[in-house]
Parts: sequence; structure tokens; C-alpha cells
Amino acid sequence: MNKYDSIVVGGGVSGLLSALVLSKSGKNVLVLEKNNVLGNNCNSYDVDGYQVDTGPHAITQLRRGGPLTYLMNNYFDYIPAFVDYGNYFIRTEKGLRDVPTTLAGYLTLDILPGKDRLKIARALTKMVLLRRMGKDLSKISVYECLPWDILSSDTAEFVDTFCYFLSGKSMRETSVQRMFVGGAFVEENLRDDIKEKGWHHNLHDVVGKVNIGRLLKNKKVSYDQYYPRDGLKAIVNAVLFSLPETVEIKTNAAVEDIITEDSTATGVSTGEGSYYADKIIYSAFVKDIPEYIRDLPAQYVSQLKMIKQSRTLTIWLGIDEKFGEFNYMGGEVWFRKKAFWAMPISNYNNNFAPEDKKLVGFMFNIDESTDYESEKHDAYETILRVYPGIERFIDMTHYQATTPEKAAVAINGFISDTETPIKNLYVVGTDADNRSMGITRAAYSVVKLIKVLRREGYIVN
Ligand SMILES: Cc1cc2nc3c(=O)[nH]c(=O)nc-3n(C[C@H](O)[C@H](O)[C@H](O)COP(=O)(O)OP(=O)(O)OC[C@H]3O[C@@H](n4cnc5c(N)ncnc54)[C@H](O)[C@@H]3O)c2cc1C
Repeated sequence: MNKYDSIVVGGGVSGLLSALVLSKSGKNVLVLEKNNVLGNNCNSYDVDGYQVDTGPHAITQLRRGGPLTYLMNNYFDYIPAFVDYGNYFIRTEKGLRDVPTTLAGYLTLDILPGKDRLKIARALTKMVLLRRMGKDLSKISVYECLPWDILSSDTAEFVDTFCYFLSGKSMRETSVQRMFVGGAFVEENLRDDIKEKGWHHNLHDVVGKVNIGRLLKNKKVSYDQYYPRDGLKAIVNAVLFSLPETVEIKTNAAVEDIITEDSTATGVSTGEGSYYADKIIYSAFVKDIPEYIRDLPAQYVSQLKMIKQSRTLTIWLGIDEKFGEFNYMGGEVWFRKKAFWAMPISNYNNNFAPEDKKLVGFMFNIDESTDYESEKHDAYETILRVYPGIERFIDMTHYQATTPEKAAVAINGFISDTETPIKNLYVVGTDADNRSMGITRAAYSVVKLIKVLRREGYIVN
């Protein structure tokens, strides 16, 4: 059979979530994945007795009824266990410091010069007030709102580091809005998706307001962040377990073309043959769509060229637990030369590492124009420099180079709509919604797909 109700291109988390929603709405679905495994960036695998994830991960917006919670509650047959993320720390030469969460925290952050802290606190307050007055902070860069002519280079590295980790881009390309969301000063949610008639599932009805109270008494940046207790693959396994038999999955099946007639998608071709469907859900890189469809409108093609991406390198280290630096739940950020975010994931589940060992992921943003081998070398040397003596305790080293999100939420970057200029072709994934990050962002895009397909009458429940 080569005719289905829907075809999903890509078997990462957003493609699989889409297949789940469609199949539970009565459709028969074909998922085509070019790799030989499913999950892609949302996965875990074994290396020398350790269970590594595809990068360190914190899953956001679970408790407040975010999009993944919505999908789990309404479509999953079971929900994987999540553990509270813990806290974020700043690694300094003198040990760990808490990441500031309030104005008072910034004012007392003595790793930065006192006058710089005052300027940061003043800028934060000004931006909160502007936002309360209705100013759109998604168009103001973090760079623009601070007086760089008088701030120190330490402060520049500090601010830039947090921008890179929240948007994948520098402070010149990261918006103040993005920082406020990452700092848990602003709530994002599903209100726009749920306000249509019949779309009520007890989700919280609060929207992107800056909460001045939080600036004064926010307890943690990781407010409402979690880690899947059995590793990242637990999320994908729960989706796979929940898929009805009406879903067929083909791996090693790279889509080569999206078949169109009169600007309407009707199917896809792979090396093995062609498959047809009423709806095509595309979860691979949106920027690559012109490779699959030649006659796209020129304006759409030029918008796709505006998509910005970042690239990361993760170094996983298996470390003897006698090296006592990673005894906390959460993550730490090193912000001086060659910044990184580290997460000791075996503290959430000691099965991830052999007895008496710990597993820590160190994630670096890398420059694609630099040679990969020298990035790996510099990153590894940075770890040795930041943790003196660690080399004697390293038991396993594993490298991963990845594109964490298909589109960075950068000022002047392009994020696609669910619908495309090609009828019956829809996109999901981290380049199809600008809210939150990573897996939560992918889930937002799937919730948006549900909304569009309901509006069209293609699915009803
Ligand atoms: C280092 C790192 C750190 C991260 N940190 C976090 C975090 O803290 N919190 C968080 O929520 N998220 C985080 N993420 C992001 C999160 O993992 C991803 O956003 C999410 O897994 C993306 O899912 P996706 O399905 O949209 O895309 P992908 O995983 O990229 O899936 C797309 C799929 O399409 C397939 N495909 C592509 N082309 C074709 C084709 N022609 N034919 C068939 N199949 C095709 C690919 O092989 C792939 O399987 C991180 C990611 C990385 C790498």
C-alpha cells in the first residue's frame, strides 16, 4: 500500500508527536525517517557502560501545563517520570555560585564589578517597566540595553554566555524578551492556541506578562524545569509505546522529493518508491524545503534564507566519583573564555554510570567556520583548565556535534508558520514556533498543528 491519510517526514520528537496526534485522531500515518534510529536530538544511547543523552537537557514548562504536558495528558498511554531539575550555578575559580534570580541577586553578584551590577540591575528594571507599558521586547537586543562603553570585559563575557545558552546567538542577536523568558521572569503558554471554541483542557490562562514580583522574589531560574528520570529517550519511548497500529514507521527512508500538483502536496518520494497522502507533515529542517520542492514562491524561499542556526559540541565525561566537584542536582555555567553549560545527569539516575562513576555532559556553542577538531581540542582543554586535576579521574570521553534547534530565536531570524505556501504541507519542529526552547518548542509547534488541522476540519478531537 502506498496511500495513507498522512505522511510525517522525520522521526525526531516533533515528527513522532505529530504522528501520535494524527493516529489518535483516527488517521493512518506513515513516518519516514532517514536514519536507522528514531528520536534524533531527543535520544539516549550507551557508550562504554554509560547512558549518554544527545546533549544535556532541561525540559521546561511541565508543571504549569505547557505544551508537552498537554500532549502527554491527552495523547500518551503513559507519562514518563520527571525529576525536578535542581538549580543553576555559575562556576568560578573559587567554586560554585548561584545564578542570580532577582534584582538583589544581581546587585550582590560579586564576581562582576560593583558598578556593572548596578547597571545590569538598572537595565533590568527599565526593561520590565517598558514591557509593562506595552513595549515589544522581542525587537530589542540585550546588547542595545546596556552601556557597553563603561562595562568590563568580564561582564560582556557573562552576558554573552547567557545569551548563547538561551538563544544560541550572541547578545547582539538575542532579544531582551528571550532573556526574560529564560530567567523565568516572563511566562509563555498555550493561551493563543487554546482560546478557540472547544479548546479547553484546564490549561493555565496566563500569557507573556513580565512579572515584576518575580524580579524581586524569584526563587530559581529553573522554576518549572525537569529532567526525564530514565534519560531523554524515555520521552520518545513513551510516544512510541502510545502509537496505535495505524502508524507505520520506516527507518533508513530518506525523503528525496515532496510531490506537488497545482501547489498542493500529494506525496513524497524516497529511494524505495513514492507514497501518497492527504496531508504531509514535515519535521526536517524547514530551511531545506527548497531542496524537496523546486517551484516554491520566491518570497518564501528568501524568508527561509533568513533562518539562523547555531551548532553545539557536547563532551560527555565518565568521571570517578572521588573527583568531588559535581555533587549537585542541576547545571553549571562557565562564562569566561570558551563558555560551557555542564550537567551531571547521573545524579538524577545512578544507572547512567557504572558503580562509583559519574556522567557529566559539557555543552559548548561552536563556530561552524572553525575546524571541528580544533574546537574539540579547545573545549577539552577548557575542561582540564576549569577543573584542575580532573584528567586523572576521567574514565570515558565521548563527543557529539549537533544542531540543537532548527532555527535560533534570534532578532531578525525567521521562524516558519505551521502552514506553508504549498497546500496540505505543514511544518512542525523547533523552526515552526518561537516559544520556549527545544523539546517544549517542538511540542508547541505540534499543538499549533492540531489547531490548524482542527480549523480545517481534518481532525475533530
Ligand atoms: C546539545 C543539545 C542540547 C539541548 N538542550 C535542550 C534542553 O535543555 N531542553 C530542551 O527542551 N531541548 C534541548 N535541546 C533541543 C531538543 O533536543 C530538540 O529541539 C528536539 O529534540 C528537536 O526535535 P525535532 O523533532 O524538532 O528535530 P530533530 O530531532 O532534528 O528531528 C528531525 C528528524 O528528521 C529527520 N530527517 C531529516 N531529513 C529527512 C529526510 N529527508 N527524510 C526523512 N527524515 C529526515 C532527521 O533524521 C531527524 O530524525 C538540545 C539539543 C541539543 C543537541
